[in-house]
Order: sequence, then C-alpha cells, then structure tokens
Amino acid sequence: MNSDTHAACDTARDEMRVMTGLAVSRGFVMGPAFLYRAGSSEQVPEYRIEPEQVEHEVARLVDAFALTRTQINTLAQELKKRINGDEASIFDGHLMILDDPTLQSTCKEKIVKDLRNAEAAVKQVADTYSSIFDAMDDSYLRERAQDVGDIVKRILRNLSGVGSDASALRVEYPCIVVADELSPSEAISLPKHQILGFATDRGSTTSHASLLARALGIPAVVGLGALSAHVKSGDLLLLDGTRGKVVVNPDSEERAAFEKMMARSRTLTESLEQATMQPGRTLDVRPVPFLANVDSSTALADLHTAGAEGIGLYRTEYLWLQEDREPSEEEQTQAYTEVARALPDGQAVAIRVLDLGGDKMPKSGGIMHREANPFLGNRSIRFLLRNPDVFHRQLRAVLRASAHGNVQILYPMVTTIDELHAANMELHTCMAELKAQGIPFDESIQRGVMIEVPAAALIADALAKECEFFSIGTNDLIQYTLAVDRVNETVARLYQPTHPAVLQLIDLAVTAAHANGLRVSVCGETAADPVMAMLFIGMGVDELSMSPNLIRLVKRAISQISFADAKALADSVRRMMGTPADQIYAFCRNQLIKLVPDLLYLQ
Ligand code: PEP
Ligand code: MG
Repeated sequence: MNSDTHAACDTARDEMRVMTGLAVSRGFVMGPAFLYRAGSSEQVPEYRIEPEQVEHEVARLVDAFALTRTQINTLAQELKKRINGDEASIFDGHLMILDDPTLQSTCKEKIVKDLRNAEAAVKQVADTYSSIFDAMDDSYLRERAQDVGDIVKRILRNLSGVGSDASALRVEYPCIVVADELSPSEAISLPKHQILGFATDRGSTTSHASLLARALGIPAVVGLGALSAHVKSGDLLLLDGTRGKVVVNPDSEERAAFEKMMARSRTLTESLEQATMQPGRTLDVRPVPFLANVDSSTALADLHTAGAEGIGLYRTEYLWLQEDREPSEEEQTQAYTEVARALPDGQAVAIRVLDLGGDKMPKSGGIMHREANPFLGNRSIRFLLRNPDVFHRQLRAVLRASAHGNVQILYPMVTTIDELHAANMELHTCMAELKAQGIPFDESIQRGVMIEVPAAALIADALAKECEFFSIGTNDLIQYTLAVDRVNETVARLYQPTHPAVLQLIDLAVTAAHANGLRVSVCGETAADPVMAMLFIGMGVDELSMSPNLIRLVKRAISQISFADAKALADSVRRMMGTPADQIYAFCRNQLIKLVPDLLYLQ
C-alpha cells in the first residue's frame, strides 16, 4: 500500500468516526451507544390455518387491536403530560388510522377467506396500505406510511404476546440511542432517565422524532447517513446536538475537549435561568418582547417561568382539532377568557382566528372538504369568509373574552385587501350585535394581520392601513415563497429562511408596518433560532413569538448583542441578495457566534 492509499484509508476511517448530520435538538452528551435495530428481532410468522382455527385467530386479532388502542392512548396521554403544542397530538393520527374500520375488517377477511394466521393477515394488509400511502402525491399522506408501519409493528408485537414492554426500548444503562430511524412510538417510549441523546441515520428537522426530542429536551442529531452501520452497542460516542456532530470512539484529546465544552455548557445554562426572567432586550437596552406561541393544550401557568412576556400567537384551531368539531360560542368564549385572565396586567394575547386546512386538517374532515392541494385551497381566512356563521361565532367569542384582559385579534393567511375588509366588516357586525345585547367587550381591540403569503408582504402598505399590527408567519411565508412544502422531508433542505426572496419580503412588511406606525412580530419557528432572531431584530422586527420552551435560549442570546450589531448584520445581508441562502445563514451564524461565543455551549 503506498502512502496515498494509507491517507485515503485514514480519511475514510475518520469520516466514519466523525459524522455530521442535522442538529435537531441542542445539547452535548457523551456516553455509550445503544444500537437499536427496529424489526431485527421481529420475524413475522406467516402460515395457513385450518377452518376450525378461524374463530381463534379472529379473536386474537380483535384483542391485539384493542390492546394496541389502549397502548397508543396511554402514550398519547403520557406525551400530553410531558409536552405542549403540536407535538402532543402526534398519536391522534395513529388512533385515526387504527380506528379506520376497513383496516380491521380487511384483516379479518384475510383470516376468514384466505385462511391466513392473524400476523400474516395484518402484515399483508399493512403492506398494501403502506404502498398506497407511499404512492400518494400528498406528502402529508405519504408520511402516514410511516405511521402505518409504527402501528403495525405494535399490533404484531401484541399478537406475538411480547406486549407493550417490548415496544419500549429496553435500555438498561444511560446511553445514546443509535438507530436507522425512530418512529414517534419508539421516541416517546425512550425511558427518558436512561436516554442521553439519540442519533439516527435518517430523519429531518421536522420529523416526528426530532420534534419530540426538542420538546423533551433530549439532544439529537439525525440524517447521519450510515452511522448505525459503523457503531456497535457500547462504543463511546460524543454527540453534539448543537452543531450536528457525532464522534465514535473519540481519542483522549477529543474526549477532554468535549468534556470541557460540556462543563462550560452546564455553567452557562444555569446562568440562563436568571436572564430568562428579565424582560427581553438587546445589550444596549432596546426592548424586544419575547412572546409565546400557544394553543389550547399549553400549560398557561408555566408561561411566566418560561420567560414569556405575553402571547404572540394563540392557535385556536386546536380547539377544533381536539374535539373534531366546532366548539360552541360559549366554549370558545370560555377558552379565550381563560387565556386572557391568565396573563398578568400589561401582557396581551393575540388570538388567531381559525387557521384550519393545510397541515391542520380535522380528523374526520368535518367542516373542511378534502382538496387536492389543501395548502393552496379553502383554508384559514378563506374558509372563514365562506362560512360566515363559523366566523361570526368565533369573533363574538374573541370579543367577549376581550372584556377580561388584553385581547387582540389576528387574521391568518390574508392574501388580498378585500379579505381584510371583509374580516373587519364581520368584526364590526359582531361588535354592533354585542353592543345591542349589552355584552361587554374591548371596543378598541387591536387587529393584526399575519404576513405569511408573499402577496401580503407585497401589499403590506395597504394592509397596514386597516389593522394595528403585523405578525410574520415565516413557516408559511417560506413555504409559499419558495414553493417548498413545509411538511415534506424530501424537500426539507430547500426550506430556507435566509433565502433572499424571503428576506426581501420580510423587509417589505417591516418597512410598511413602521411607515404606518404599526409594530411587527415574527411568530414562525425561525424566530426561535438565535441566528434568525438577531437578523430579524436588525431588520427592524419589534417582537418575537415562539414555543415557550425556546424563549430562554433566544432571550439570552439577544441580551448579548446590541441593536447596532443586529442592524449592521441586516445591512450586510441586504448586500448579499445574490448569495445562496445557506451561505447567508452561515455568515449570520458566524457573526452571532463572534459576538456570543457562549451560544455554542448553551443548551
Ligand atoms: C406560520 O405560518 O409561520 C405560523 C406561525 O402559523 P402556523 O405555523 O400555525 O401555520
Ligand atoms: Mg401559518
């Protein structure tokens, strides 16, 4: 072997030892690997049965479905106890699939007609379901193929009598779980006290397991390629969930450096707690209120300790999604009043009217019709304007709650000026009605418009004349500007918050807002990335709204930079409009790290 070949081997070995992927949940951990191979021990027995065994097999099938339902319900409740927000409803989708009457009846048919054992019947039917979902154009439905797989695994385990214990990972020591991919069931079944982190070959920032890792505070790196092929249980791993790096069997130097970093991170993280309770502001004391994004499942009592200074986005659609029906005006009034009352004096809640459709579809369809392209269909404000009774009831409820606290109203997905006119008109009708009925409400309630469609940013000046504030919904603004489905993993890398087109639209919205004396917030997920938060503040954004559990980190980062630094960053970025989005992001990140080197160590 010549020296070149030696070098090539070393490089290859090194590449396998130090692997990079997507940093999906911050934090640093060191510990032994636990290699989890889903399905390796799960040989599905498939055989023909005699007619007299049919009854017994059907009974086993029914029992396994019932047990699976109980287990998923338990997981769902467990999850709701542990986290707030969208992530808590992951298992609702599983239950929907499990409760689909054709799933069980088709399995039964295979047993009765084809004389197959229950396991074989489930497997065959599941394969058909998965391939149907897989072939669908709709990425949301395609993702359901993974959910089907998750449920089927559980049914098969229950059939085999291994039971629910086996569906939790059996982990006997604190470890970093390494897997090809983790399903939501597997991720939630992780015994949290034993799991230091997880690292998977596949997955994206938005996959269920990543959402759960963030919500549970478990450091995680996904999309590592072939990590699980190179690691065996017991190998020592260094996992950096902040930069998306995993080192396998580090040498003593790497290990010492990492330990130092972990210690520093711990000290800094402790100091975060104090900063959390201070009002959000830059180093040169420019106030930047940090608001929370919440929905009806959020523990309101915890908002204060999370450092929230109000609620920038209250997603009302979860009231519909949880019950799978429209809540009555009374129920809505009660829910909105509860939030209004929960906030300390001086803090406001922006109640966003119904944003159903797109990624937020009711389980049974219900009041929404299935559409070929729901993200571009009759969703959100469009739906409300076509269903004035629903809109009317909701507006009355929001107004009634406004008598009990500082309530604001937020219109989602506004695309045209006449939508805003129509919404305001409906609001005035409700106000007149309440007044005539002698029901109290805030007559000068503030009205906000979500800027989440490029068209809205482009006509922001006109919109600003008919409302009191803007809230930029980057989740949708990025999707609609870049034509990238926000829930499609395949195109996740094209979903770029620093794409110059997105930034120019935000600039337009901020300029129009300020020219008309409006304040503007960002309430999309990107607001919770300290790098983007700094850039937004530099671009003139007045407030940031995010998941409560992310406030402390971003607040701390922003308290370390001056407004002048942020503005200089935004100015530099404005000169980079011909630069690819990832380079703009890297530039912003470097600037922030230069100013706040601690950030690398914060969890
Ligand atoms: C957004 O689009 O950025 C937003 C905050 O709204 P949602 O995520 O609820 O669509
Ligand atoms: Mg949106």
